[in-house]
Amino acid sequence: MTDYAPSSGGRATGAVVDLRSDTVTQPTAAMREAIARAAVGDDVFGDDPTVNALQERVAALLGKEAALFMPSGTQSNLCGLLAHCGRGDEYIVGQLAHTYRYEGGGAAVLGSIQPQPLPNQPDGTIKLDDIAAAIKPDDPHFARTRLLALENTWGGNVLPTGYAEAACDLAHSRGLATHLDGARLFNAAVASGRTVADLTRPFDSVSICFSKGLGAPIGSMLVGSRELIQRAHRIRKMVGGGLRQVGVLAAAADHALTHHVDRLADDHTLARRLADGLAALPGVTVTPPQTNIVFAQVEGGRGAALLEHLKARGVLATGLIGLRFVTHLDVDAAGIDRAIAAAREFFEKT
Ligand SMILES: *Cc1c(COP(=O)(O)O)cnc(C)c1O
Repeated sequence: MTDYAPSSGGRATGAVVDLRSDTVTQPTAAMREAIARAAVGDDVFGDDPTVNALQERVAALLGKEAALFMPSGTQSNLCGLLAHCGRGDEYIVGQLAHTYRYEGGGAAVLGSIQPQPLPNQPDGTIKLDDIAAAIKPDDPHFARTRLLALENTWGGNVLPTGYAEAACDLAHSRGLATHLDGARLFNAAVASGRTVADLTRPFDSVSICFSKGLGAPIGSMLVGSRELIQRAHRIRKMVGGGLRQVGVLAAAADHALTHHVDRLADDHTLARRLADGLAALPGVTVTPPQTNIVFAQVEGGRGAALLEHLKARGVLATGLIGLRFVTHLDVDAAGIDRAIAAAREFFEKT
């Protein structure tokens, strides 16, 4: 048994192979023990020793001054955006970025921040020329362009080496701040062999998630300068994110940081195994995965039928035309092989 082995028998190899997301993981037995042991206090009073220690640990790990625990990545990004931008300010963001596309428009709704979405290239970058052209001059006609937000990993891809540095240099030279949505930052670090501090160095603020590949049940963190985190603290309270004995969650996140980072390499290996297996099937085109997310295109509009077929055989994934499979700590090689076999059966029998 490894220290991240499933706590309840047969979860990894049992009835369902759940590849919908890396958010579906169950806390391991060891993580549950860490939760049970956690010293806690009222964090609205600043009294929770476990979350305080975790905030210091993560700030140091990312090479920033301060960090703030958040219930979700959405709230973490929201507090970051609101801490950087005021009413009537603008942030530059990818057209397909999570903060712009999948967070209910919170920056606009709650912060009166105007997004300036720009095309994402297939590797998740936004062209530097596009960024430069989108920064508005200081003129009463325009919103004030205040922030550039990027994402790493993006669609499971690690941003190309040097891109974040170049984009952040450009933003900073024009007076903008920079934010990284690093919900899967640790996947990017493990896949690229770079440290998380190295990947986050160019950014003024970073949001990370413990509830994705790291396998904690709940939790994210916003990281940045002491001053920015102080502003974010007030905003977090305003949006209802001030929690009480949050050490039970921080203990799970702390355990995940200690035990579940290096093993992300296993998820990446399994993603490649799945990609190779699916790519061998007729009518399936697979984008080679860099981390733990596999995208597959199914010819002839049969994606939905394949998903149904897989579901009937206990293999869950998402998508319609392009299918998405995500590996995580509750999936093992046997589960991946079951998923491949079930997909093969679909193309053989139909
Ligand atoms: C999951 C995710 C988030 C935040 O998600 P929550 O479900 O709110 O925790 C933010 N950005 C990206 C890229 C994500 O994948």
